[in-house]
Amino acid sequence: MKLKLGYKLTLSYALVAIISVLTVALLANSLIQNHFRQYVLLKGESANKSIVNDLERSYKDFGKWDLSSVQDIGSEALDNGYIVGVKNNGKEEIWDAHEYDLYRCGNVIHNMSEHMRMNFPTWKENYTVKNYDITVDDKLVGTVSIGSFPDYYSENDVLYLKTLNKVLIYSSFIALVAAIIVGFLVTNNIVRPISKVEKITKNISKGNYNQRIDEKVDTVELDNLIISINDLAKSLQKQEDIRKNLTKDVSHELKTPLTSLQITLEAFIDGIIEPTKERFSVCYEEILRLNRLVKDLEKLYSYEQDHSDINKTKFNMGEIVQNIITNFESEYKMKNITVSFSNDNLTLNADKDKITQVIINLLSNAIKYTNEGGNIEIRLFEHKTGIKLIVKDNGVGIPDEDKEYIFERFYRVDKSRTRLTGGAGIGLSIVKAIVDSHNGTIDVESKEGKGTIFSVYISN
Ligand code: ADP
Repeated sequence: MKLKLGYKLTLSYALVAIISVLTVALLANSLIQNHFRQYVLLKGESANKSIVNDLERSYKDFGKWDLSSVQDIGSEALDNGYIVGVKNNGKEEIWDAHEYDLYRCGNVIHNMSEHMRMNFPTWKENYTVKNYDITVDDKLVGTVSIGSFPDYYSENDVLYLKTLNKVLIYSSFIALVAAIIVGFLVTNNIVRPISKVEKITKNISKGNYNQRIDEKVDTVELDNLIISINDLAKSLQKQEDIRKNLTKDVSHELKTPLTSLQITLEAFIDGIIEPTKERFSVCYEEILRLNRLVKDLEKLYSYEQDHSDINKTKFNMGEIVQNIITNFESEYKMKNITVSFSNDNLTLNADKDKITQVIINLLSNAIKYTNEGGNIEIRLFEHKTGIKLIVKDNGVGIPDEDKEYIFERFYRVDKSRTRLTGGAGIGLSIVKAIVDSHNGTIDVESKEGKGTIFSVYISN
């Protein structure tokens, strides 16, 4: 059965409170009953001793058994619920409560057992007679038999026990109510923000990515959950923007060159302009650019789709980097850029073609985004269990707010600028897809106007 978290927590608190309070109450009650019974038994024993002492004192005072004194002692004992019988050392009866007043004796025993039965319904009658020697100056002068209920609880004893039980019941009740109130407050403190999180995440799942949770909480896990959901909403919003831009960008990227080609060709057909070699070259450049774009998209699609088609071989990474630098020589020399390369002559076990693509994309970006007369530094060295490649330039740099998105496809920092440089915002997405497919990492550090450093790590 599915229950609301609030009910569940409050019920658990109440259950724990009830179990604890009941356990404490039952334990305390049983301990008190036990100790009180011991106390009552001792009290009975000391009452018996006191009767014996009184009889010894009487004998000593009179130098013999004095009937009237013994009767006073026996009668007082009877008032207190003790049935006394005294014999001299010749075993002759001196005084016996039954003979003195049989009716009173019966009454005393009846009243006591009625009182006990009324207060303790499970009480079992256990009338006990105990015999004691009476000695005066170390000489046996007689014996006394004392009959009583050893576990008899007087009116005061019963009252005391009842008061104790009441205190126990009241304090248990107060503890239970306090536990339920505290439980309710704590539960409310947890459930309220969770309900808010649930409401907002429902809205986010419906596509309202601009929703944020502004609840302040003092529970670490809940606080982390809220931060994560807010981050998730932020990143979903960014993804949604990128997705919306994607279709727009693809059609835009294709539309501009296609329209320009169409217009030029129509003008050729209509004889408005002369189809010269130069004009055909411009059309041809446009077609090459379109072809490049489609190929880049194809590559990206395949790299992102499947990580299993990696064709690993061992190759000299330094040689590959050096060859690529040489191929780009005319490009960077045209911009008067210096490229330096430090190489530890390292071997890498990876997909050679794909790693080549990574180096090409990083170096071509470095050249594209470095101004005339700039510097590019490439370093290759051993790192952990693999190789690290650093491509550092002192070019235009990347603004902080764009850094986390440059690996998204079609993301360009400055669209007008990159269109001029021919970039479509796919190069770094390809690099990231290849590095990911090798379980490697790529990081970027950049300062606007100062330059950019890309660090790629691929394990061997
Ligand atoms: P593009 O084909 O537009 O260069 P990329 O995916 O290669 O696309 O790069 C995405 C964006 O990242 C670029 O538009 C550019 O603004 C920025 N960028 C990439 N490399 C560099 C760099 N070395 N220096 C400055 N900006 C860079």
